[in-house]
Amino acid sequence: MSDEFGPSEVEKKHDRALGMGARITRRDFLNGVALTVGASIVPGIIPPEMWAAAAPDLEAQDVPGYYPPSKTGLRGSHAGSFETMHKVRDAAFWDDAPKAVDTGESYDLVIVGGGISGLAAAHYFRKAAGDKARILIVENHDDFGGHAKRNEFRTGDRTILGFGGTYSIESPWPYSAVAKSLIEELGIDVPSYHNYVSKDLYRSLGLKPRIFFDKETFGTDKLVTNAVHMGGDESGINDLGGEAGLREFLKEAPLSEKAKQDFQRLLTEGKDYFPGLSSDEKKARLARMSYAKYLTDTAGVSDEIVKLLQAFPHPLFGVGIDAVPAQDAWGLEMPGFSGLRLDPAPGKGMNRDAIHSDEAEKYFFHFPDGNASIARLLVRKLIPAAIPGSSTAGVVVAKADYSKLDDPSSSTRIRLNSTVVKVNHRGDPASAKEVEVSYFTEKKLKTVRAANCILACWHVVIPYIAQELPEAQKEALASAQKVPLLYNNVLVRDWSAFQKLGASTIYSPGMYHTSVSLDLPVSVGGYECTKKPDEPIVVHMMKAACKPGRPAREQHKLGRIQLYSTTLETYERNIREQLARILGPGGFDPARDILEITVNRWPHGYAYEYNSLADQFWLEGGETPCEVARKPFGRLAIANSDAGAYAYTDSAIDHAYRAVQELKRN
Ligand SMILES: Cc1cc2nc3c(=O)[nH]c(=O)nc-3n(C[C@H](O)[C@H](O)[C@H](O)COP(=O)(O)OP(=O)(O)OC[C@H]3O[C@@H](n4cnc5c(N)ncnc54)[C@H](O)[C@@H]3O)c2cc1C
Repeated sequence: MSDEFGPSEVEKKHDRALGMGARITRRDFLNGVALTVGASIVPGIIPPEMWAAAAPDLEAQDVPGYYPPSKTGLRGSHAGSFETMHKVRDAAFWDDAPKAVDTGESYDLVIVGGGISGLAAAHYFRKAAGDKARILIVENHDDFGGHAKRNEFRTGDRTILGFGGTYSIESPWPYSAVAKSLIEELGIDVPSYHNYVSKDLYRSLGLKPRIFFDKETFGTDKLVTNAVHMGGDESGINDLGGEAGLREFLKEAPLSEKAKQDFQRLLTEGKDYFPGLSSDEKKARLARMSYAKYLTDTAGVSDEIVKLLQAFPHPLFGVGIDAVPAQDAWGLEMPGFSGLRLDPAPGKGMNRDAIHSDEAEKYFFHFPDGNASIARLLVRKLIPAAIPGSSTAGVVVAKADYSKLDDPSSSTRIRLNSTVVKVNHRGDPASAKEVEVSYFTEKKLKTVRAANCILACWHVVIPYIAQELPEAQKEALASAQKVPLLYNNVLVRDWSAFQKLGASTIYSPGMYHTSVSLDLPVSVGGYECTKKPDEPIVVHMMKAACKPGRPAREQHKLGRIQLYSTTLETYERNIREQLARILGPGGFDPARDILEITVNRWPHGYAYEYNSLADQFWLEGGETPCEVARKPFGRLAIANSDAGAYAYTDSAIDHAYRAVQELKRN
């Protein structure tokens, strides 16, 4: 046990075996050598804390070598991005705030938030007001794109890409005409996805989806075939093997005989658990109970099955089956509903993620850096000099020039590392001709003016910065609590252990990360994915920070606190331990095989989506909080995916478009 005197000898030994003491190349280089050899000769790898020191007269993003995608360690909501806003939230900012400096800058539009919604809003505004319209986008992170985050790794002479957040163009509902036409305008040909993905790569090498049963939850550590179906597989690379897969799973799984029978029964039994009720009445019942409760209390299956299925909805909702309505589980094709003979039409109060659409399922595209490519294509449209090249596919390998983002000669500018702390009309909101936007950067408080302002930032932030808004609207905005998540990327020396174990993606319901996946093999625009098991690859590890057994919003709140308060060292240890446990039998040695770690921490992750267990109004109908929250006010309009209570890129785009239409034109 460690105590106040630090780790014990046993812990130190364990850490050494995990490679905790190992010198991860890039991080060491950043911490030790970079600045001593001079900023200008090490482009792309200057650590942020040294940017200002490197060139005191320049803003960080203008310093040569500023290149956030290549940073590893703690990313996502990284240090330096959130502290100011937390001070504002805690009413601790204004008391000792420096005197505001008026930059003298005046814009047609200021946009708060440089995610896809903010970038799309700039695009739509330029379309409406012309290319000369003066637009400033203010973003608190060190990179643009928001959740659409690009992670780059260097190994040898190769750059390997990863998605640090938004994974792909996909949405359970079909993209709207507006969102689709933006994707087309950016040159993305969604149906061509199958030309870029090496669909059969993993299968041809004998790799398939697996489940890792862990000792603490299931009594033994064991990797077995995954035959648990949930929804479709839009990526096209996973195949659960049908009946044969199920037989293998039942043979291998370290479950009791009773649990195995229960599982088979769930899949095949035609029993109607609610005899005498109509389909609608059954759905109404299912909408009001969790899937976990349905399994134990209605279907009467063993606890082991609940533990097995617990984390399946994590990638969608950030919570487990304890907080997912049974009706949604039915929509997601989870086992146990065939005997109810439900009418296939969606039931009242179903989450949109749980409503199947063939059209939506076919609309899928993955870039190697996820939807960061969409963000980069948008930036190229707004500020061509910042993203070299002209081909859509080529954007994947284009190296962004951050010094061009906030260039006074450009009509659109993107200002990073700047937290907006106040937005207010200059005069009565009903008649004012201007708004003033104050932002905090590099210990300075600065102001700009604009004819209009779009708040494309997270809705929970807005009540603190736009205090003029009506109380009911602020309350609705504050209710959009985000879903906390980790999207971690680990660069490993090779994937021979995955090959030996026959695993491509691993669902690990009892572990810290509930999924571990080899990168989706996509080669596009000159970028070649890894195809040989002896080559380096990015392993993606996902965690939903939740606390099962509590209402979803409470789980999100506790998860958010957990993510902010966990140190990089702990994240790293969890990553190393989990990979060692799962892949060790395949010869994986974390101390030897892990080359880089990037922890993408998203305490404010997915937009909160309504569900029938937690949100009575979602069952009853009527105006939803997001409709109240997104109302325009004076010269302010409100975008972000929160505005649709829908955690998808199309929501970010649709609401950017709407917000631009709502702006005052005079
Ligand atoms: C881990 C993860 C994976 C996802 N995967 C997918 C996916 O595969 N497909 C999909 O369609 N969607 C996915 N999403 C949903 C994703 O959020 C949306 O697709 C979309 O990118 C959201 O864009 P946005 O601009 O609305 O919000 P964001 O990307 O969150 O951008 C808002 C920006 O505003 C900034 N901001 C907040 N406060 C301030 C302030 N005071 N001053 C200045 N700036 C501020 C924020 O820091 C942020 O950068 C994912 C989300 C997460 C978190």
